[in-house]
Amino acid sequence: MKKIAAILLISVSVLLLSAYGLYKLMNACTFQLFGEVVSSLDTNQKTVALTFDDGPNDKADHVLHTLEQANIKATFFLIGESIEKYPEEAEKLVQAGHEIGNHTYSHQRMIFKSPSFIENEIEKTDQLIREAGYEGEILFRPPYGKKILGLPYYLSQHDRKTITWDVEPESYPEVAKSPETIVPYVLQHTKPGSIILLHIWHYSKEKQSYIIENVAKGLKEKGYTFQTVSQLLQ
Ligand SMILES: [Zn+2]
Repeated sequence: MKKIAAILLISVSVLLLSAYGLYKLMNACTFQLFGEVVSSLDTNQKTVALTFDDGPNDKADHVLHTLEQANIKATFFLIGESIEKYPEEAEKLVQAGHEIGNHTYSHQRMIFKSPSFIENEIEKTDQLIREAGYEGEILFRPPYGKKILGLPYYLSQHDRKTITWDVEPESYPEVAKSPETIVPYVLQHTKPGSIILLHIWHYSKEKQSYIIENVAKGLKEKGYTFQTVSQLLQ
């Protein structure tokens, strides 16, 4: 009996450890099994990319105005369903010269999904981005940063780059609680070549202005310039 108990204990430990490994793997920002994943650029130059996930929504005019005032070209990873809902807003982002990336059609966790589901999620969104008038290379960012097997395999087969981030204030509740804590976190953790992630669409217009204006001001004072992700990677 003791032997069986020992074997059981070992088996459970191995299972738990592999589940933990799998969990770490699908959330890793810098590693995946197939294809290229980029979380920042290795450089001495003080250039960074500001990236906004999700959207668009009805606050596009305000976000665009704030970025224009700050003289920043950003990278927007848009959701296909939201582009369908706000096609004119998506067009305005393109016309203003920002970079547009693919953040899937329905924003689900891309784990344990069929190859045809993944293909549809990505290609349908690519098509919507083209319909909005965007002509550049379409970079990809997985929802929740989650990617395992099926998704990275599809991306590598289609020669697509996966873009993650290295500065994400909203992943810490005590930082995410207000713009007044988000901004200092970004200023403190940004380094040359950083890719900064913010979910700007979900904030009120006042908070959007506060975050964009102060991140722009603070980083410019530290000598940084802003580029789109594609420009940063060139
Ligand atoms: Zn997202």
